[in-house]
Amino acid sequence: MIRKFISRVLGRKGPERPNEPAIIALAQHGLQRDQISRGCQRTVEGLQENGYQAYIVGGAVRDLLAGLKPKDFDVATNATPEQVRHCFRRSRIIGRRFQIVHVSMGAETIEVTTFRGHHGEHAGNKAQTDEQGRVLRDNVFGSQAEDAARRDFTVNALYYDPTSETITDYHHGVADLQQKTLRMIGDPKTRYREDPVRMLRAVRLAAKLGLTIDPAASRPIREMSELIDNVPPSRLFDEMLKLLTSGHALHCVRQLREEGLHNGLLPLLDVILGQPLGERFVMLALEATDRRVAEGKPISPGFLFATLLWHEVLAKWQLFKSGGEPATPALFLAMDEVLEVQAEKLAITRRIAGDIKDIWALQPRFEQRSGKRPYGVLQHPRFKAGYDFLLLRAESGELEPATSVWWTEFLHASDEARAAMLLPPTPGEARKRRRRRRPPASIGQTPNLQE
Ligand code: ATP
Ligand code: MG
Repeated sequence: MIRKFISRVLGRKGPERPNEPAIIALAQHGLQRDQISRGCQRTVEGLQENGYQAYIVGGAVRDLLAGLKPKDFDVATNATPEQVRHCFRRSRIIGRRFQIVHVSMGAETIEVTTFRGHHGEHAGNKAQTDEQGRVLRDNVFGSQAEDAARRDFTVNALYYDPTSETITDYHHGVADLQQKTLRMIGDPKTRYREDPVRMLRAVRLAAKLGLTIDPAASRPIREMSELIDNVPPSRLFDEMLKLLTSGHALHCVRQLREEGLHNGLLPLLDVILGQPLGERFVMLALEATDRRVAEGKPISPGFLFATLLWHEVLAKWQLFKSGGEPATPALFLAMDEVLEVQAEKLAITRRIAGDIKDIWALQPRFEQRSGKRPYGVLQHPRFKAGYDFLLLRAESGELEPATSVWWTEFLHASDEARAAMLLPPTPGEARKRRRRRRPPASIGQTPNLQE
Protein backbone atom coordinates (compact mmCIF):
# COMPACT_ATOMS: atom_id res chain seq x y z
CA MET A 1 0.00 0.00 0.00
CA ILE A 2 2.74 2.41 1.06
CA ARG A 3 4.81 1.39 -1.94
CA LYS A 4 1.88 2.04 -4.22
CA PHE A 5 1.40 5.43 -2.63
CA ILE A 6 5.08 6.32 -3.07
CA SER A 7 5.10 5.24 -6.68
CA ARG A 8 2.00 7.35 -7.30
CA VAL A 9 3.56 10.41 -5.72
CA LEU A 10 6.83 9.98 -7.57
CA GLY A 11 5.06 9.10 -10.77
CA ARG A 12 7.12 5.92 -10.85
CA LYS A 13 5.50 2.68 -11.83
CA GLY A 14 5.95 -0.02 -9.27
CA PRO A 15 7.58 -3.19 -10.55
CA GLU A 16 4.51 -5.12 -9.49
CA ARG A 17 2.21 -3.00 -11.68
CA PRO A 18 4.04 -2.56 -14.96
CA ASN A 19 1.01 -1.27 -16.85
CA GLU A 20 -0.14 1.35 -14.40
CA PRO A 21 0.85 4.77 -15.70
CA ALA A 22 1.26 7.94 -13.71
CA ILE A 23 -1.22 10.64 -14.70
CA ILE A 24 0.63 13.90 -14.34
CA ALA A 25 -1.32 17.12 -13.92
CA LEU A 26 -0.63 20.54 -15.39
CA ALA A 27 0.68 21.87 -12.09
CA GLN A 28 3.47 19.29 -12.18
CA HIS A 29 4.42 19.25 -15.85
CA GLY A 30 3.59 22.83 -16.88
CA LEU A 31 2.77 22.06 -20.52
CA GLN A 32 -0.03 24.36 -21.68
CA ARG A 33 -2.65 23.42 -24.26
CA ASP A 34 -1.90 26.48 -26.40
CA GLN A 35 1.69 25.32 -26.91
CA ILE A 36 0.23 22.65 -29.18
CA SER A 37 -0.43 23.61 -32.79
CA ARG A 38 -4.05 24.40 -33.59
CA GLY A 39 -4.26 21.66 -36.22
CA CYS A 40 -2.98 19.09 -33.80
CA GLN A 41 -5.45 20.10 -31.10
CA ARG A 42 -8.31 19.84 -33.59
CA THR A 43 -7.12 16.40 -34.69
CA VAL A 44 -7.09 15.12 -31.11
CA GLU A 45 -10.51 16.68 -30.46
CA GLY A 46 -11.91 15.13 -33.64
CA LEU A 47 -10.84 11.67 -32.54
CA GLN A 48 -12.03 12.13 -28.96
CA GLU A 49 -15.45 13.39 -30.14
CA ASN A 50 -15.78 10.12 -32.04
CA GLY A 51 -15.13 8.17 -28.85
CA TYR A 52 -11.49 7.30 -29.41
CA GLN A 53 -8.49 7.90 -27.21
CA ALA A 54 -6.06 10.39 -28.70
CA TYR A 55 -2.86 11.96 -27.44
CA ILE A 56 0.06 14.01 -28.64
CA VAL A 57 3.07 11.80 -28.28
CA GLY A 58 6.77 11.44 -28.84
CA GLY A 59 9.22 14.17 -29.75
CA ALA A 60 6.75 17.06 -29.53
CA VAL A 61 5.79 16.46 -25.88
CA ARG A 62 9.41 15.84 -24.96
CA ASP A 63 10.67 18.97 -26.73
CA LEU A 64 7.98 21.21 -25.24
CA LEU A 65 8.72 19.96 -21.74
CA ALA A 66 12.40 20.64 -22.37
CA GLY A 67 11.60 24.18 -23.52
CA LEU A 68 12.37 23.50 -27.20
CA LYS A 69 10.25 24.16 -30.25
CA PRO A 70 8.96 20.85 -31.65
CA LYS A 71 9.66 20.01 -35.28
CA ASP A 72 6.22 18.49 -35.75
CA PHE A 73 3.30 17.06 -33.79
CA ASP A 74 2.42 13.39 -33.85
CA VAL A 75 -0.82 11.93 -32.57
CA ALA A 76 -1.32 8.41 -31.23
CA THR A 77 -4.75 6.81 -30.94
CA ASN A 78 -6.55 3.56 -30.36
CA ALA A 79 -8.53 4.10 -33.58
CA THR A 80 -7.40 1.98 -36.53
CA PRO A 81 -6.17 3.81 -39.65
CA GLU A 82 -9.54 3.17 -41.33
CA GLN A 83 -11.40 4.60 -38.33
CA VAL A 84 -9.13 7.66 -38.30
CA ARG A 85 -9.82 8.15 -42.01
CA HIS A 86 -13.56 8.26 -41.31
CA CYS A 87 -13.14 11.00 -38.68
CA PHE A 88 -11.55 13.50 -41.07
CA ARG A 89 -12.58 14.50 -44.54
CA ARG A 90 -9.11 15.65 -45.49
CA SER A 91 -7.07 12.62 -44.54
CA ARG A 92 -5.35 9.73 -46.23
CA ILE A 93 -3.73 6.51 -45.25
CA ILE A 94 -0.04 6.33 -45.99
CA GLY A 95 0.79 2.71 -46.61
CA ARG A 96 4.26 1.98 -45.42
CA ARG A 97 5.50 -0.91 -43.33
CA PHE A 98 3.08 0.33 -40.72
CA GLN A 99 0.04 2.29 -41.89
CA ILE A 100 -0.37 5.81 -40.60
CA VAL A 101 -2.86 8.53 -41.48
CA HIS A 102 -2.02 12.03 -42.63
CA VAL A 103 -4.71 14.46 -41.50
CA SER A 104 -4.70 17.88 -43.17
CA MET A 105 -5.72 20.81 -41.01
CA GLY A 106 -5.29 24.05 -42.96
CA ALA A 107 -1.64 24.16 -43.95
CA GLU A 108 -0.68 21.59 -41.31
CA THR A 109 -0.36 17.86 -41.79
CA ILE A 110 -0.74 15.82 -38.62
CA GLU A 111 0.59 12.29 -38.53
CA VAL A 112 -1.80 9.96 -36.72
CA THR A 113 -0.55 6.55 -35.64
CA THR A 114 -2.51 3.70 -34.13
CA PHE A 115 -1.01 2.35 -30.89
CA ARG A 116 1.51 -0.32 -31.77
CA GLY A 117 1.64 -3.62 -29.99
CA HIS A 118 4.17 -5.87 -28.44
CA HIS A 119 5.84 -8.47 -30.46
CA GLY A 120 7.09 -10.40 -27.49
CA GLU A 121 6.45 -14.14 -27.43
CA HIS A 122 3.82 -13.79 -24.73
CA ALA A 123 1.74 -11.72 -27.11
CA GLY A 124 1.76 -14.64 -29.51
CA ASN A 125 3.09 -12.61 -32.41
CA LYS A 126 6.84 -12.69 -32.23
CA ALA A 127 8.50 -10.06 -34.38
CA GLN A 128 10.54 -11.10 -37.35
CA THR A 129 14.21 -10.49 -36.69
CA ASP A 130 17.49 -11.11 -38.48
CA GLU A 131 20.27 -13.29 -37.01
CA GLN A 132 21.56 -10.39 -34.89
CA GLY A 133 18.13 -9.78 -33.39
CA ARG A 134 17.30 -6.70 -35.45
CA VAL A 135 13.55 -6.31 -35.79
CA LEU A 136 12.53 -6.50 -39.43
CA ARG A 137 8.78 -6.18 -39.11
CA ASP A 138 6.87 -4.43 -36.43
CA ASN A 139 3.31 -3.87 -37.50
CA VAL A 140 0.91 -5.08 -34.85
CA PHE A 141 -1.71 -2.85 -33.25
CA GLY A 142 -1.74 -2.79 -29.46
CA SER A 143 -2.78 -1.02 -26.30
CA GLN A 144 -1.45 2.32 -25.12
CA ALA A 145 0.74 0.56 -22.54
CA GLU A 146 2.23 -1.64 -25.25
CA ASP A 147 2.73 1.37 -27.48
CA ALA A 148 4.64 3.08 -24.68
CA ALA A 149 6.80 0.02 -24.05
CA ARG A 150 7.99 -0.25 -27.63
CA ARG A 151 9.22 3.35 -27.75
CA ASP A 152 12.93 3.80 -27.18
CA PHE A 153 13.56 6.26 -24.34
CA THR A 154 11.39 7.13 -21.36
CA VAL A 155 11.24 10.78 -22.41
CA ASN A 156 9.82 9.68 -25.77
CA ALA A 157 6.93 7.74 -24.23
CA LEU A 158 4.84 10.60 -22.91
CA TYR A 159 1.19 11.02 -23.95
CA TYR A 160 -0.28 14.49 -23.64
CA ASP A 161 -4.01 14.99 -23.66
CA PRO A 162 -4.79 18.65 -24.48
CA THR A 163 -8.37 18.26 -23.27
CA SER A 164 -7.50 17.35 -19.68
CA GLU A 165 -4.00 18.86 -19.92
CA THR A 166 -2.55 15.73 -18.35
CA ILE A 167 0.41 13.60 -19.33
CA THR A 168 0.17 9.82 -19.20
CA ASP A 169 3.61 8.58 -18.25
CA TYR A 170 4.28 4.82 -18.12
CA HIS A 171 8.02 4.91 -17.73
CA HIS A 172 8.96 7.77 -15.47
CA GLY A 173 9.74 10.00 -18.43
CA VAL A 174 8.73 13.36 -16.92
CA ALA A 175 10.96 12.81 -13.91
CA ASP A 176 13.83 11.59 -16.12
CA LEU A 177 13.54 14.74 -18.21
CA GLN A 178 13.54 16.88 -15.08
CA GLN A 179 16.61 15.01 -13.86
CA LYS A 180 18.21 15.39 -17.29
CA THR A 181 18.62 11.69 -17.90
CA LEU A 182 18.09 9.82 -21.14
CA ARG A 183 16.96 6.38 -20.03
CA MET A 184 16.14 3.40 -22.22
CA ILE A 185 12.82 1.65 -21.78
CA GLY A 186 13.58 -2.00 -21.03
CA ASP A 187 16.94 -3.70 -21.27
CA PRO A 188 19.28 -1.45 -23.31
CA LYS A 189 21.19 -4.34 -24.88
CA THR A 190 18.01 -5.97 -26.12
CA ARG A 191 16.71 -2.68 -27.41
CA TYR A 192 19.97 -1.93 -29.30
CA ARG A 193 19.93 -5.43 -30.75
CA GLU A 194 16.35 -4.91 -31.97
CA ASP A 195 17.36 -1.63 -33.60
CA PRO A 196 21.01 -0.51 -33.54
CA VAL A 197 20.00 2.96 -34.77
CA ARG A 198 18.88 3.59 -31.18
CA MET A 199 22.57 4.02 -30.30
CA LEU A 200 22.75 6.97 -32.67
CA ARG A 201 19.42 8.28 -31.45
CA ALA A 202 20.74 8.18 -27.90
CA VAL A 203 23.70 10.36 -28.86
CA ARG A 204 21.59 12.78 -30.90
CA LEU A 205 18.77 13.18 -28.41
CA ALA A 206 21.14 13.57 -25.46
CA ALA A 207 22.96 16.36 -27.31
CA LYS A 208 19.78 18.04 -28.46
CA LEU A 209 18.12 17.99 -25.05
CA GLY A 210 21.22 18.48 -22.91
CA LEU A 211 20.66 15.10 -21.21
CA THR A 212 23.16 12.61 -19.88
CA ILE A 213 22.77 9.11 -21.26
CA ASP A 214 22.01 6.80 -18.36
CA PRO A 215 25.12 4.63 -17.73
CA ALA A 216 23.06 1.46 -18.26
CA ALA A 217 22.22 2.71 -21.74
CA SER A 218 25.64 4.12 -22.63
CA ARG A 219 27.76 1.24 -21.28
CA PRO A 220 26.81 -1.37 -23.90
CA ILE A 221 27.26 0.98 -26.85
CA ARG A 222 31.01 0.44 -27.27
CA GLU A 223 30.76 -3.32 -27.47
CA MET A 224 27.61 -3.26 -29.60
CA SER A 225 28.63 -0.53 -32.03
CA GLU A 226 29.40 -2.96 -34.82
CA LEU A 227 25.72 -3.91 -35.03
CA ILE A 228 25.39 -0.65 -36.95
CA ASP A 229 26.99 -2.52 -39.88
CA ASN A 230 23.77 -4.38 -40.14
CA VAL A 231 21.52 -1.36 -40.61
CA PRO A 232 20.34 -0.64 -44.16
CA PRO A 233 22.48 2.18 -45.65
CA SER A 234 19.48 4.37 -46.46
CA ARG A 235 18.31 4.33 -42.83
CA LEU A 236 21.82 5.11 -41.63
CA PHE A 237 22.04 8.00 -44.05
CA ASP A 238 18.73 9.44 -42.78
CA GLU A 239 19.86 9.15 -39.19
CA MET A 240 23.29 10.64 -39.84
CA LEU A 241 21.66 13.51 -41.69
CA LYS A 242 19.35 14.12 -38.71
CA LEU A 243 22.33 14.02 -36.40
CA LEU A 244 24.43 16.39 -38.48
CA THR A 245 21.59 18.87 -39.01
CA SER A 246 20.31 18.71 -35.43
CA GLY A 247 21.94 22.02 -34.53
CA HIS A 248 24.25 20.07 -32.22
CA ALA A 249 26.41 18.36 -34.79
CA LEU A 250 29.68 19.25 -33.11
CA HIS A 251 28.57 17.89 -29.78
CA CYS A 252 27.10 14.78 -31.43
CA VAL A 253 30.27 13.92 -33.33
CA ARG A 254 32.37 14.38 -30.18
CA GLN A 255 29.94 12.18 -28.31
CA LEU A 256 30.03 9.53 -31.04
CA ARG A 257 33.75 9.38 -30.54
CA GLU A 258 33.42 9.24 -26.77
CA GLU A 259 30.96 6.38 -27.00
CA GLY A 260 33.29 4.55 -29.36
CA LEU A 261 30.63 4.79 -32.07
CA HIS A 262 32.70 6.48 -34.75
CA ASN A 263 34.89 3.43 -35.27
CA GLY A 264 33.66 1.60 -38.27
CA LEU A 265 30.35 3.43 -38.15
CA LEU A 266 31.38 5.85 -40.80
CA PRO A 267 34.69 5.38 -42.50
CA LEU A 268 34.86 9.13 -42.78
CA LEU A 269 34.82 9.70 -39.04
CA ASP A 270 37.52 7.08 -38.50
CA VAL A 271 39.88 8.85 -40.78
CA ILE A 272 39.06 12.46 -40.13
CA LEU A 273 39.03 12.38 -36.38
CA GLY A 274 42.52 10.93 -36.47
CA GLN A 275 44.29 13.73 -38.36
CA PRO A 276 44.76 17.27 -37.03
CA LEU A 277 44.11 19.28 -40.20
CA GLY A 278 41.15 17.12 -41.16
CA GLU A 279 39.74 17.35 -37.68
CA ARG A 280 40.05 21.12 -37.59
CA PHE A 281 38.33 21.38 -40.96
CA VAL A 282 35.45 19.12 -39.89
CA MET A 283 35.01 20.89 -36.57
CA LEU A 284 34.86 24.28 -38.30
CA ALA A 285 32.32 22.90 -40.76
CA LEU A 286 30.16 21.46 -38.01
CA GLU A 287 30.35 24.67 -36.02
CA ALA A 288 29.24 26.64 -39.08
CA THR A 289 26.39 24.18 -39.61
CA ASP A 290 25.23 24.44 -36.01
CA ARG A 291 25.33 28.23 -36.30
CA ARG A 292 23.19 28.13 -39.42
CA VAL A 293 20.63 25.88 -37.73
CA ALA A 294 20.51 28.24 -34.74
CA GLU A 295 19.86 31.14 -37.14
CA GLY A 296 17.09 29.18 -38.85
CA LYS A 297 18.98 29.01 -42.16
CA PRO A 298 18.74 25.97 -44.42
CA ILE A 299 21.47 23.35 -44.41
CA SER A 300 22.83 21.81 -47.56
CA PRO A 301 23.49 18.10 -46.98
CA GLY A 302 25.80 18.10 -50.00
CA PHE A 303 28.00 20.77 -48.46
CA LEU A 304 28.05 18.96 -45.14
CA PHE A 305 29.11 15.61 -46.55
CA ALA A 306 31.57 17.30 -48.89
CA THR A 307 33.33 18.75 -45.85
CA LEU A 308 33.26 15.51 -43.90
CA LEU A 309 34.90 13.60 -46.72
CA TRP A 310 37.26 16.23 -48.09
CA HIS A 311 40.41 15.12 -46.34
CA GLU A 312 39.93 11.61 -47.60
CA VAL A 313 39.63 12.99 -51.10
CA LEU A 314 42.79 15.04 -50.58
CA ALA A 315 44.74 12.00 -49.43
CA LYS A 316 43.56 9.83 -52.32
CA TRP A 317 44.08 12.63 -54.83
CA GLN A 318 47.68 12.94 -53.70
CA LEU A 319 48.12 9.20 -54.06
CA PHE A 320 46.82 9.13 -57.64
CA LYS A 321 48.93 12.14 -58.58
CA SER A 322 52.08 10.60 -57.19
CA GLY A 323 51.21 7.49 -59.20
CA GLY A 324 51.59 9.63 -62.35
CA GLU A 325 47.94 10.58 -62.97
CA PRO A 326 47.44 14.20 -64.17
CA ALA A 327 45.81 16.46 -61.56
CA THR A 328 42.25 16.65 -62.85
CA PRO A 329 41.66 12.98 -63.69
CA ALA A 330 43.36 12.12 -60.39
CA LEU A 331 40.87 14.29 -58.51
CA PHE A 332 37.92 12.63 -60.23
CA LEU A 333 39.28 9.18 -59.49
CA ALA A 334 39.73 10.13 -55.85
CA MET A 335 36.20 11.57 -55.61
CA ASP A 336 34.64 8.43 -57.05
CA GLU A 337 36.60 6.15 -54.81
CA VAL A 338 35.77 8.05 -51.64
CA LEU A 339 32.06 8.13 -52.46
CA GLU A 340 32.07 4.44 -53.35
CA VAL A 341 33.55 3.46 -50.00
CA GLN A 342 30.90 5.52 -48.21
CA ALA A 343 28.11 4.01 -50.27
CA GLU A 344 28.73 0.61 -48.71
CA LYS A 345 27.45 1.92 -45.41
CA LEU A 346 25.68 5.14 -46.18
CA ALA A 347 23.24 5.51 -49.03
CA ILE A 348 24.09 9.07 -50.03
CA THR A 349 21.35 9.94 -52.50
CA ARG A 350 22.30 10.54 -56.11
CA ARG A 351 21.34 14.20 -55.98
CA ILE A 352 23.43 14.85 -52.90
CA ALA A 353 26.37 12.93 -54.36
CA GLY A 354 26.10 15.24 -57.40
CA ASP A 355 26.25 18.31 -55.15
CA ILE A 356 29.25 16.91 -53.29
CA LYS A 357 31.15 16.29 -56.51
CA ASP A 358 30.37 19.76 -57.84
CA ILE A 359 31.79 21.35 -54.70
CA TRP A 360 34.95 19.26 -54.82
CA ALA A 361 35.48 19.68 -58.55
CA LEU A 362 35.32 23.45 -58.17
CA GLN A 363 38.26 23.53 -55.75
CA PRO A 364 41.15 23.27 -58.22
CA ARG A 365 39.32 25.71 -60.47
CA PHE A 366 39.70 28.40 -57.81
CA GLU A 367 43.45 28.17 -58.37
CA GLN A 368 43.07 29.40 -61.93
CA ARG A 369 42.94 33.12 -61.69
CA SER A 370 43.92 34.22 -65.18
CA GLY A 371 42.12 34.85 -68.45
CA LYS A 372 38.42 34.13 -68.60
CA ARG A 373 38.37 31.15 -66.30
CA PRO A 374 37.40 32.93 -63.07
CA TYR A 375 34.29 34.26 -64.82
CA GLY A 376 33.29 30.72 -65.70
CA VAL A 377 33.75 29.67 -62.08
CA LEU A 378 31.56 32.60 -60.92
CA GLN A 379 28.82 31.35 -63.21
CA HIS A 380 28.87 27.81 -61.88
CA PRO A 381 25.50 26.94 -60.29
CA ARG A 382 27.28 25.65 -57.16
CA PHE A 383 29.69 28.60 -56.98
CA LYS A 384 28.43 29.82 -53.60
CA ALA A 385 28.83 26.41 -51.97
CA GLY A 386 32.25 25.92 -53.58
CA TYR A 387 33.36 29.36 -52.42
CA ASP A 388 32.17 28.80 -48.84
CA PHE A 389 34.06 25.52 -48.95
CA LEU A 390 37.19 27.33 -50.10
CA LEU A 391 36.87 29.79 -47.20
CA LEU A 392 36.62 26.92 -44.77
CA ARG A 393 39.72 25.27 -46.23
CA ALA A 394 41.67 28.48 -45.77
CA GLU A 395 40.35 28.96 -42.25
CA SER A 396 41.38 25.43 -41.29
CA GLY A 397 44.94 26.08 -42.43
CA GLU A 398 44.84 23.62 -45.31
CA LEU A 399 45.23 26.39 -47.89
CA GLU A 400 47.24 29.59 -48.03
CA PRO A 401 44.74 32.41 -47.55
CA ALA A 402 45.90 34.16 -50.75
CA THR A 403 43.45 32.24 -52.96
CA SER A 404 40.36 32.80 -50.84
CA VAL A 405 41.28 36.44 -50.24
CA TRP A 406 41.61 36.91 -54.00
CA TRP A 407 38.20 35.32 -54.62
CA THR A 408 36.46 37.40 -51.98
CA GLU A 409 37.84 40.53 -53.55
CA PHE A 410 37.05 39.34 -57.10
CA LEU A 411 33.50 38.48 -56.12
CA HIS A 412 32.76 41.95 -54.83
CA ALA A 413 34.78 43.96 -57.37
CA SER A 414 33.46 46.07 -60.26
CA ASP A 415 33.97 44.86 -63.85
CA GLU A 416 37.07 47.02 -64.32
CA ALA A 417 38.55 46.06 -61.00
CA ARG A 418 37.97 42.40 -61.80
CA ALA A 419 39.75 42.70 -65.13
CA ALA A 420 42.68 44.34 -63.37
CA MET A 421 42.88 41.52 -60.83
CA LEU A 422 43.39 38.72 -63.35
CA LEU A 423 46.78 37.10 -63.25
CA PRO A 424 48.78 36.72 -66.46
CA PRO A 425 48.00 33.43 -68.21
CA THR A 426 50.42 30.59 -67.70
CA PRO A 427 52.06 29.29 -70.91
CA GLY A 428 49.79 26.23 -70.92
CA GLU A 429 46.67 28.36 -70.62
CA ALA A 430 47.79 30.68 -73.44
CA ARG A 431 48.17 27.69 -75.78
CA LYS A 432 44.70 26.39 -74.93
CA ARG A 433 43.20 29.84 -75.39
CA ARG A 434 44.49 29.99 -78.98
CA ARG A 435 42.75 26.71 -79.75
CA ARG A 436 39.42 27.84 -78.37
CA ARG A 437 36.97 29.11 -80.97
CA ARG A 438 34.00 30.36 -79.00
CA PRO A 439 34.29 32.81 -76.10
CA PRO A 440 32.49 31.65 -72.94
CA ALA A 441 28.96 33.03 -72.64
CA SER A 442 29.24 33.83 -69.00
CA ILE A 443 31.60 36.76 -68.79
CA GLY A 444 30.69 39.77 -66.73
CA GLN A 445 27.75 38.36 -64.80
CA THR A 446 27.74 37.82 -61.08
CA PRO A 447 26.04 34.79 -59.63
CA ASN A 448 23.07 35.09 -57.40
CA LEU A 449 24.41 34.97 -53.88
CA GLN A 450 21.09 34.95 -52.09
CA GLU A 451 21.03 32.36 -49.34
P1 ATP B 1 13.05 14.16 -33.66
O1 ATP B 1 11.72 14.31 -34.33
O2 ATP B 1 13.50 15.31 -32.86
O3 ATP B 1 14.08 13.66 -34.58
P2 ATP B 1 11.74 12.04 -32.32
O4 ATP B 1 12.03 11.33 -31.02
O5 ATP B 1 10.43 12.72 -32.44
O6 ATP B 1 12.93 13.01 -32.55
P3 ATP B 1 10.93 10.50 -34.54
O7 ATP B 1 11.73 9.73 -35.49
O8 ATP B 1 10.08 11.63 -35.00
O9 ATP B 1 11.93 11.00 -33.44
O10 ATP B 1 10.05 9.46 -33.75
C1 ATP B 1 8.87 9.77 -33.03
C2 ATP B 1 8.72 8.85 -31.82
O11 ATP B 1 8.71 7.48 -32.24
C3 ATP B 1 9.87 8.93 -30.84
O12 ATP B 1 9.70 9.97 -29.92
C4 ATP B 1 9.82 7.56 -30.18
O13 ATP B 1 8.79 7.50 -29.22
C5 ATP B 1 9.43 6.67 -31.34
N1 ATP B 1 10.62 6.13 -32.01
C6 ATP B 1 11.29 6.67 -33.07
N2 ATP B 1 12.32 5.91 -33.44
C7 ATP B 1 12.30 4.84 -32.62
C8 ATP B 1 13.13 3.69 -32.51
N3 ATP B 1 14.17 3.49 -33.30
N4 ATP B 1 12.80 2.79 -31.54
C9 ATP B 1 11.75 2.98 -30.72
N5 ATP B 1 10.96 4.05 -30.78
C10 ATP B 1 11.22 4.98 -31.71
MG1 MG C 1 9.62 13.69 -34.29
